[in-house]
Amino acid sequence: ELGQSLGRLGRALRDQMPAAGSVWGGWTPPGIHPDPRPPDEADVVVVGGGVVGWSVAYWLKMLEGRYRRHGMRVLVVERDPTYSRASTVLSVGGIRQQFSLLENIQMSQFSARFLRDINEHLGVPNEPPIDIQFQPSGYLFLASPEGAAELEANVQLQRAEGAQVALLSPTQLKERFPWINTEGMAMASYGLEDEGWFDPWILLNAFRRKATSLGVHNCCGEVRAFVTSANDTFPSEPESARIKYAHIYMPDSLEYQPVACSIVVNAAGAWAGKLLEAEGLPGELCQPPLPIQPRKRYVFSWHCPDGPGLSCPLLVDTSGAYFRRDGIAGNYLGGMSPPE
Ligand SMILES: Cc1cc2nc3c(=O)[nH]c(=O)nc-3n(C[C@H](O)[C@H](O)[C@H](O)COP(=O)(O)OP(=O)(O)OC[C@H]3O[C@@H](n4cnc5c(N)ncnc54)[C@H](O)[C@@H]3O)c2cc1C
Repeated sequence: ELGQSLGRLGRALRDQMPAAGSVWGGWTPPGIHPDPRPPDEADVVVVGGGVVGWSVAYWLKMLEGRYRRHGMRVLVVERDPTYSRASTVLSVGGIRQQFSLLENIQMSQFSARFLRDINEHLGVPNEPPIDIQFQPSGYLFLASPEGAAELEANVQLQRAEGAQVALLSPTQLKERFPWINTEGMAMASYGLEDEGWFDPWILLNAFRRKATSLGVHNCCGEVRAFVTSANDTFPSEPESARIKYAHIYMPDSLEYQPVACSIVVNAAGAWAGKLLEAEGLPGELCQPPLPIQPRKRYVFSWHCPDGPGLSCPLLVDTSGAYFRRDGIAGNYLGGMSPPE
């Protein structure tokens, strides 16, 4: 009788608090089961299920055939399926070709081609096609007289890599964007192709859906500790130790599942440095420390019905402050990155 009463009380409480029915507040993004247990073994454990983690998982499965490693068992571990603090979903979603580093330009050119043909790469049979809501729009970098030479050198590098970038004088700038105050401007560079912005949440889900369809596993949990060969009865030298197990802690629990693995990919984003402090990693394996730590970033959103409208580029001024249009209803978003 007591059991029945308690059962009734439990059901009544659950009905009162629908969000309490699940660890994740009753809402779970598609593709992630609230509590899938990790497998006992995986060849590769990817720590972090942001866009980088899922992209790594996708490419591992895509390229496994090339290296005759069919059937690679890949596990993506994400501690927060709501992605409330992940850079991927908090980002501005911009893609540009205008970088000062050769490698960044080359990666961005690859990304632009990849995104253009995204359905060929990430499409899954019998699933809806992917539309990342791409908004083509050039980045517009403004330069003061002091910064003009550097801007010009960057554009030369970008053009040498095949990027389509225009250099504008203040007069040309004013003609093209009459709403810009060109006082104190010496020059501007404007991307003519392969620049704009898209919805990073859609891209993340597209990678996840495709990787899952290729056999990648995922689980909710936090990797907090490792066991390495330095812990063996006959231990290897700490600097040549290999990770043997990743300990995955279940959400809201002290319970963990050890997953035997050969390779761990650190895709923990801003927490990548923190992961190297995980229990069980010999200090020698983590030297030099990763210079990555979470920093406060912000993006403001504002409504400005008389703003530049559809012709608004992603503008970066001489201070590094940036803004862009957000939709077509007079909304804008922008911010400023902290100094290095
Ligand atoms: C405000 C802002 C604006 C940006 N704008 C742009 C832009 O316009 N264009 C552009 O290209 N880039 C932009 N970026 C950068 C871009 O968002 C990031 O480079 C990219 O999203 C990084 O992806 P990630 O997967 O490495 O990290 P994240 O998306 O942060 O994913 C890392 C994941 O790892 C998980 N995790 C961490 N530790 C553990 C653990 N121990 N166990 C399990 N899971 C763990 C976290 O929960 C997180 O979900 C911006 C970033 C910010 C912050």
